[in-house]
Amino acid sequence: MQEEIQNLKKKFETQVESAESPKQLEELRVGYLGKRGPVQTLMKSLRSLSPEERPAFGKQVNDLKQRIVRLLEEKLGAVRKKALEMKLGLERIDVSLPGKRRFSGRQHPLTQLLDEASSILSGMGFSILDSPEIEEEYYNYGGLNYPADHPARDMQDTFYITDRKELLRSHTTAIQQHAMRDHQPPIRVVSLGKCYRNETISSRSHVFFHQIDALYIDQGVTFQDLLATMDSFYTQIFHQKVEMRVRPSYFPFVEPGMEIDIRCTTCLGKGCQLCKSTGWLEVCGAGMVHPEVLREGGLDPEIYTGYAWGSGVERLVQLRFSIKDIRLFTENDLRFLSQF
Ligand SMILES: [Zn+2]
Repeated sequence: MQEEIQNLKKKFETQVESAESPKQLEELRVGYLGKRGPVQTLMKSLRSLSPEERPAFGKQVNDLKQRIVRLLEEKLGAVRKKALEMKLGLERIDVSLPGKRRFSGRQHPLTQLLDEASSILSGMGFSILDSPEIEEEYYNYGGLNYPADHPARDMQDTFYITDRKELLRSHTTAIQQHAMRDHQPPIRVVSLGKCYRNETISSRSHVFFHQIDALYIDQGVTFQDLLATMDSFYTQIFHQKVEMRVRPSYFPFVEPGMEIDIRCTTCLGKGCQLCKSTGWLEVCGAGMVHPEVLREGGLDPEIYTGYAWGSGVERLVQLRFSIKDIRLFTENDLRFLSQF
């Protein structure tokens, strides 16, 4: 009997030592002290002993029981403390560790340029006018002196929504008749935003892109005013004094029409990849508002004159940062976007 108690005690001590969770300890408690456990069996065996032997043996069984209870409690305390320490250890702050890098959002390069252009032109006295991306055919073409058979009106080049009546605007120039109908001269407005053309997507063209269009109509507006405004605008956009040259060109809504180049901002005219060795960069189309367009807008071309010019926003950002592929603007590649 004595030996049995000693063996039981040793066995329990080994098991309680290796227990690692409150659950395991509870299993041990039930296993040893439960109704069918060895301690209870020993208690029952007291009856078979002689009255002289009972007190001494009873004390040993009781001691064993108390030891089991105490060891279980101690171990439970230790297990819980260890779990808490591990939890705290995970949460501990080590101020010497390098900080976690947080990625902050930033504006898309096109949005940056649009904001900058709005700010520059507002500073020059232009009002920013919103105009719809879904436009009536009249505002996009007819009211801008596009003849009925002009190739740009073709279904191949324009996204029509309803049969020849509504379309996705192909240029922000569509603002012009809105401006003339809604405002009296002096009219000094800018339209900025998305335009759509049915083009094959490549490194040089896309089905949608952004434009800035400026319109100034008043008495005595001259070609010189146009040049001065553009000179100031592009000098601020490119953060350096620009040199401009004018080439004659044709747009239905201006007369005379022209294209404006600036001296290459990278090589300053020596010739480089960006300017394809010409030393010049094409930045916009411009001209004096066509008398027919003024008349269409209810203004007498004998009294009023005006200028209009428009730039592709992608083109300006491409020139500014030497970006070769227009598709990068819409692919949302973080390797590209995170540079701005
Ligand atoms: Zn160059």
